[in-house]
Amino acid sequence: MPDNNDRVPPGEGKPRREKLIPLSPKERMAIERQDMPEQEAEERRGNFSEVPFGYDDDLAQLEAKRCLECPSAPCIAGCPVGIDIPRFVAHVALADYAEAARTLKEASSLAAICGRVCPQEEQCEAVCVRGKTGEPVAIGRLERFVADWEREHPVDDPEPLPPTGKKVAIIGSGPSGLTAAGDLARKGHKVVIHEALHEPGGVLMYGIPEFRLPKSIVRSEIEAVKRLGADVEVNAVAGRLFTIPELLEEEGFDAVYIATGAGLPVFLNLPGENLIGVFSANEYLTRANLMSAWTYPYTDTPIIQSDRVAVIGAGNTAMDAARTALRLGADHVAIVYRRSRAEMPARIEEIEHAEQEGVEMRLLTNPIEYLGDEDGRLVGLRCVRMELGEPDSSGRRRPIPIEGSEHVYECDTAIVAVGTRPNPLIQSTTPDLLFDKWGRVMIDPETRHTASEGVFAGGDIVSGAATVIAAMGDGKSAARHIHAYLEGELDTAAIIQSIRDRTEE
Ligand code: FAD
Ligand code: SF4
Repeated sequence: MPDNNDRVPPGEGKPRREKLIPLSPKERMAIERQDMPEQEAEERRGNFSEVPFGYDDDLAQLEAKRCLECPSAPCIAGCPVGIDIPRFVAHVALADYAEAARTLKEASSLAAICGRVCPQEEQCEAVCVRGKTGEPVAIGRLERFVADWEREHPVDDPEPLPPTGKKVAIIGSGPSGLTAAGDLARKGHKVVIHEALHEPGGVLMYGIPEFRLPKSIVRSEIEAVKRLGADVEVNAVAGRLFTIPELLEEEGFDAVYIATGAGLPVFLNLPGENLIGVFSANEYLTRANLMSAWTYPYTDTPIIQSDRVAVIGAGNTAMDAARTALRLGADHVAIVYRRSRAEMPARIEEIEHAEQEGVEMRLLTNPIEYLGDEDGRLVGLRCVRMELGEPDSSGRRRPIPIEGSEHVYECDTAIVAVGTRPNPLIQSTTPDLLFDKWGRVMIDPETRHTASEGVFAGGDIVSGAATVIAAMGDGKSAARHIHAYLEGELDTAAIIQSIRDRTEE
């Protein structure tokens, strides 16, 4: 086995990392990034099965051998939950998948999910050293490979610490709530997750479709959190069946973590928005995913049968809605977006998948009116063409309507996917909490404590619509600080005052 440890100078001020993969840097550099086999576009647009098949052993080991095991490992800092990426990747290269899985588990309780839906191209892979001169290591694909292997060959869960006698309520069972629950249960606290819907998982269950994130995977990750000792109560709507003050004052909880997401759809308020055939992406996707409308009539929930569909927006939600509409049998589906391709917020991989499946991209096109027939059914979308002007406050070039460019896109279904915001239910039933003008809970960014004693918050309810891994990162940080709070190590009076001061600025 060649020892190449001496060939790479150690990172300045960093502990030296022992290299595990028995290849020289030159040998590693000679390996090209490995594609992940997937269903052909023509075939997959007719089914809800997962699009990529994942790496097999050979592909995974080959891809892993591309890692340089850099002493400075910038990929770790690029990961919002700080996975020791070179270590887990090296264990894949050595075919020691159990050790790779243990390494992932140290930092992430939802690796099979993150490996599928995280925007690695903007995070760990964006800073991967191999990306400087070619393509980065396919960290996400390797994470997915290891997590899938571990589902078939479970490695030991770390033993939770002995019970502390403290009780924590988590409100919301999306990635943020689940992550906080797992970490707090490991510390020995009694954790109860309260979820409004009849099934836990948040957007992972009701938003992201089966063909991108199979629900069996989400369920098995939730089971793993339960095995750590967390209880899940479904159909438990905070603000309707109970309030947060009641949990603390009457139900014996010592702390609360609010992770209720940002699930309230935003509409465009255009004329005709009440026509039959106009949906929010949330309703459309919830019917299809959570209520399994794609298997109707074998399940109870129906969904509109469409011929021509317009999906308004260009984020991940829009791509999911467009690709779901195709799979539900639509003849033609178009993304209608007022800016250009460069500004589309969806992951590049999702845009490419949608295009391969036949989704039309009607870019620089802004809808101005929904058109209906005498029965109140949608028949078209009146649109205007746009050009890009100077950058606006968000840094993106402002779209400007082109005079005389009005036209109609004929469609029987329009799905609005232009964003979401927090539901105001918690705001209206938790008097001490403070909220910003977008309805997001205000927190101390360091500790995630809110303006209400013993109440913490994170995920989309704080950041607005963001990403799975950011929500998980918040959950991890909250769990750390909730633990400190339960140990009496948090000066909450000062924290609460600093949040109140911010609202008066
Ligand atoms: P959520 O996942 O929204 O979970 C919140 C939970 O709280 C829900 O289960 C909700 O029912 C529950 N809840 C709400 N109110 C109450 C209440 N009053 N009482 C009890 N429970 C309550 N991100 C990515 O990184 N990659 C992607 O590919 C991606 N694709 C997406 C596709 C779609 C269609 C959508 C909608 C989002 C996507 N996102 C993606 C964003 C990502 O899913 C979210 O940022 C993430 O799920 C936020 O996690 P969270 O835990 O804060 O909230
Ligand atoms: Fe490996 Fe890339 Fe991380 Fe370097 S930056 S250790 S090459 S994954």
